[in-house]
Amino acid sequence: MSDTIEKIKCLIIGSGPAGYTAAIYAARANMNPVLYQGMQPGGQLTTTNEVENFPGYVDGVTGPEMMIQLQEQAKRFGADIRDGWATKVDFSGDIHKVWINDSIELHCETVIISTGASAKYLGLPSEQHYLNMGGGVSACAVCDGFFYRNQEVVIVGAGDSACEEAHYLSKLCKKVTMLVRSEKFRASKIMEARVRKTENIEILMNHDTVEVVGDNQVVHAIKALNKTTGEVIEIPATGFFVAIGHKPNTDIFKDYINLDETGYIINTPGTSNTNVAGVFVAGDAADHVYRQAITAAGTGCMAALDAERYLASKE
Ligand SMILES: Cc1cc2nc3c(=O)[nH]c(=O)nc-3n(C[C@H](O)[C@H](O)[C@H](O)COP(=O)(O)OP(=O)(O)OC[C@H]3O[C@@H](n4cnc5c(N)ncnc54)[C@H](O)[C@@H]3O)c2cc1C
Repeated sequence: MSDTIEKIKCLIIGSGPAGYTAAIYAARANMNPVLYQGMQPGGQLTTTNEVENFPGYVDGVTGPEMMIQLQEQAKRFGADIRDGWATKVDFSGDIHKVWINDSIELHCETVIISTGASAKYLGLPSEQHYLNMGGGVSACAVCDGFFYRNQEVVIVGAGDSACEEAHYLSKLCKKVTMLVRSEKFRASKIMEARVRKTENIEILMNHDTVEVVGDNQVVHAIKALNKTTGEVIEIPATGFFVAIGHKPNTDIFKDYINLDETGYIINTPGTSNTNVAGVFVAGDAADHVYRQAITAAGTGCMAALDAERYLASKE
């Protein structure tokens, strides 16, 4: 083994709530964690202005501010936070090899994967405009539904998550219009039945979203194409929720780590263990159910504790 290759006790890949929480715990356990931030330092929360459901922030906090605080907390205990992107791994041996930016090779005793997931969007220019403005487009009903209490919203999607989110919104909002792109739901029958029988959810089958309409600052309506009649309708709404799925950032691990059919890492239930000893997972990379900052942070804690116990068992 060359002397130029850095040896790391605990490598953390990703700088969202999961990665930083893992770094806090690992640093306080003297594991000298090294954390690579990736392309989105601070993770998904850096794209939102209002986080109101993370315990401890009585008046809420902006996503970027919260992530800077988590980073500072990790640094206070000595976590080594670095710029860089994991581009390749080799988990075939006892020492786990990770390459950063295709050039730096690291040899790690433990690895915590906290690379998160990215919400999928339709890709319409108007959708991206209001998403970037923070003016009424969201991919997370649990995170943002509260801001649309007693208002009318539109949600697009046809799977179980879309049904779950539509139902969640129906309890907060005056009316929820659900746009389903084809003639069939992809959701399970039970989830479909649940939205169908909810009074304030109107389902429009075979409708495509054409445009998110607003005053340049905030959303006022959604234009949708009825693919059966060819008619374009305008649905009044102050919020537009996109629930067409997430893509976990796990491609580089797929040759070694067991993933489910959508790319989420499969962990041993109740632990952060993956199928490779010494490699752990935390946060949205393994969670298609909850997808919240607090659950990501909770599993970040679990991953650091599991890594610490793994190292202790090898001594
Ligand atoms: C707009 C928006 C608003 C939200 N609002 C809320 C809210 O109000 N409350 C709430 O609880 N949740 C909210 N969420 C959800 C929350 O952001 C996520 O559940 C949480 O961030 C997941 O944390 P994570 O650490 O697993 O991953 P992420 O936050 O997704 O972070 C992943 C990290 O991994 C890094 N990464 C990825 N690939 C690599 C690689 N190959 N090498 C190195 N690094 C890599 C990225 O750069 C990033 O730093 C919101 C999400 C969005 C998109």
